[in-house]
Amino acid sequence: MNLSKRIALVAHDNCKKDLMEWTAWNWEAILEHKLTCTGTTGRLVEETLLSKLSDGARLQYPIVKLKSGPFGGDQQLGALISQGKVDVVIFFWDPMQPHPHDVDVKALLRIAVLYNIPTACNRSTADFIISSPLMKAPYTPIERDFTEYAERGLPL
Ligand code: PGA
Repeated sequence: MNLSKRIALVAHDNCKKDLMEWTAWNWEAILEHKLTCTGTTGRLVEETLLSKLSDGARLQYPIVKLKSGPFGGDQQLGALISQGKVDVVIFFWDPMQPHPHDVDVKALLRIAVLYNIPTACNRSTADFIISSPLMKAPYTPIERDFTEYAERGLPL
């Protein structure tokens, strides 16, 4: 990990207000990092951050906007994690409503756990992560060694 972290931000529709409040509250800290978001979340995060800057100012790091979650954005994010391109995931998923892309959400959370990526699924955890001294320090998550699995013998 570098001093500037690569943060993924995602929120389901019922949680977007929550994530924008969190973004507005933590905008100075968030601006120090590189953001990747699912489509709609990214648009709203950008608007929220720009509203904190003076007129005409730009973000230090442009926000990478993936596809919207239901159209593959969560899967794109999972792929980025597996490629070692995401340091932190902030994902406010809706615990009260099923979604057409629930399987993608599960896959994203699974891959985040597999790669030992710090992952916040609610605002309190996001508060703890964004205020952690580790956000400004080099940090490499320990990954489990899957060599034995990759080289396992299979009956053919
Ligand atoms: P959205 O996708 O940011 O494009 O709304 C989020 C999601 O539903 O996973």
